[in-house]
Amino acid sequence: MKWRWMICLFLVLMAEQSRAWGFYAHQQINQLAVYALPQELFPFYRSQIDYLGKHAVDPDMRRYLVDGEACRHYIDIDVFEKAIPLDTLPRRYSDAMAKFGEDSLLANGIVPWHIQWVLQKLTKAFQENNWEKVIHISAELGHYVADAHVPLHNTANYNGQLTGQHGIHGFFESRLPELFMPRYDLITPEAVYLEKPLEYIWDRIEQGFSALDTVFSSELDMRRTWVESKKTSLEERNGKLVKVWSLEYAAAWHKKLNGMVERRLHASIEGVACFWYTAWVLGGQPNLPGSVVVAEQVSELPKEPLKTDKPGRKEDHGPE
Ligand SMILES: [Zn+2]
Repeated sequence: MKWRWMICLFLVLMAEQSRAWGFYAHQQINQLAVYALPQELFPFYRSQIDYLGKHAVDPDMRRYLVDGEACRHYIDIDVFEKAIPLDTLPRRYSDAMAKFGEDSLLANGIVPWHIQWVLQKLTKAFQENNWEKVIHISAELGHYVADAHVPLHNTANYNGQLTGQHGIHGFFESRLPELFMPRYDLITPEAVYLEKPLEYIWDRIEQGFSALDTVFSSELDMRRTWVESKKTSLEERNGKLVKVWSLEYAAAWHKKLNGMVERRLHASIEGVACFWYTAWVLGGQPNLPGSVVVAEQVSELPKEPLKTDKPGRKEDHGPE
């Protein structure tokens, strides 16, 4: 039994290291998306809201353990195209593969297409009336849709390592939501059916990509002008003092971003709800049960035909 506990502890530690929007934000996105669902889906999803929140980071937990997982969380748009509009970047996987080769896609990220594949799995689960699977895959789909909305998941400079902005990834997607998300108005309109889900997610990626200039320039400006001692502070986490971006520094950047974090979170929640609803419509709009018992497990979807990822891609979440 001992080794099983050690593996569990390791998974938790890895999740802490590799969280994307950040555990808190992913959990909130999945749970708030439930409240944007139409009446046909709301009671069932509401009955599973704890599971949907708790398992919102399962894909991150296996990110460095399962071959082919890491590249499902991002796409380095700037490897393929430098500026908006992204009109030479094929939207369909088969077209992109024909243009760039599969190895290049796997090396630089496949999040829009992985979302499409997970949407198909969720649709199939609805068709089969497999309610446990519906909830399990919904939690995962919510994760990938949310990741696609993070601007820093759309660039090869994902952690500021190319511009001397190491740590910007976690600063944007973990520290800022943790500090400021409770103040946001994240009530979203009721989910709608997505006629073209792949185009929808590409639009969201394009929005995030176009925000990158602001993300990098505003943070670089602060990094250069603030004295080092004011940038960080110590906070207690799990009984240990850890170095974090200071509240003052975080608040100043948050202000410079002018609502961007709130807008991206809002769009994430809306996107997650729309994808769940779309899968249900495509799955034949089955009547959902009042509730279902979903087994607790670290989830694992069958692998797509993937080969390998960039090894060792990690996004540190604190200041150095
Ligand atoms: Zn992720």
